[in-house]
Amino acid sequence: MEEIRLQKYIAECGVASRRKSEELISQGRVRVNGETVTQMGRKVSLNDVIEVDGKQVKMEERKVYIALNKPVGYISSARDQFGRKTVLDLVKDIKERVFPVGRLDYDTSGLLLLSNDGDFTYKLTHPKHEIKKVYEADLMGIPSKDDIIRFEQGLWIDDYLTSPANLQLLESNGKTSKVKITIHEGKNRQVRKMCDKIGCPVIKLKRISIGEVSLGKLNEGSWRSLTDSEINSFF
Ligand code: URA
Repeated sequence: MEEIRLQKYIAECGVASRRKSEELISQGRVRVNGETVTQMGRKVSLNDVIEVDGKQVKMEERKVYIALNKPVGYISSARDQFGRKTVLDLVKDIKERVFPVGRLDYDTSGLLLLSNDGDFTYKLTHPKHEIKKVYEADLMGIPSKDDIIRFEQGLWIDDYLTSPANLQLLESNGKTSKVKITIHEGKNRQVRKMCDKIGCPVIKLKRISIGEVSLGKLNEGSWRSLTDSEINSFF
């Protein structure tokens, strides 16, 4: 949040009207970070501790829910130790501090959700909720009928058995193929590792949906807000 005037902050916390908030300030009843403020011009942000009559008042940050079409070449954490571009560089026009919900690899593109709502993040990332995620992938080689069954039955990756997944062959040209993959988990590089396991390494990977939210026609690098029904579908 950018800085706003103290009287506006108090009013937006629902403590009093803007006019009454000005009165509270001039009466010496408001403190900012422990210091009584009686001047009107003072600007504050969410990092400041504001008290009225000795009681802290807080502004509820608006909850935001974003669908981003992540291009390849962006890291999906808030910061990168190697200074690479992060997905937050693509949502700079959002005032609230949002965080990526789950991850997409640096070399994967497609749907990534971002939010500042911890409950939403929990629903989407906790394995017990088994949210469906769908990917389109270009693979080296062509998966066989047997491979499709192996996806359904689970594959041993590192030290875990994947839960039932779906592999659908969309097209092939003899050497490579295009497939649709549906999983209900989100382990590190899971789709790539599953495809390696059947001997068809991923050439290109794109996530096209998470639960009820689809990428649709969202341009690469662009974002949109989720609709109410998309948000509610996760709760
Ligand atoms: N599985 C992967 O291997 N990579 C991703 O980015 C997402 C799922």
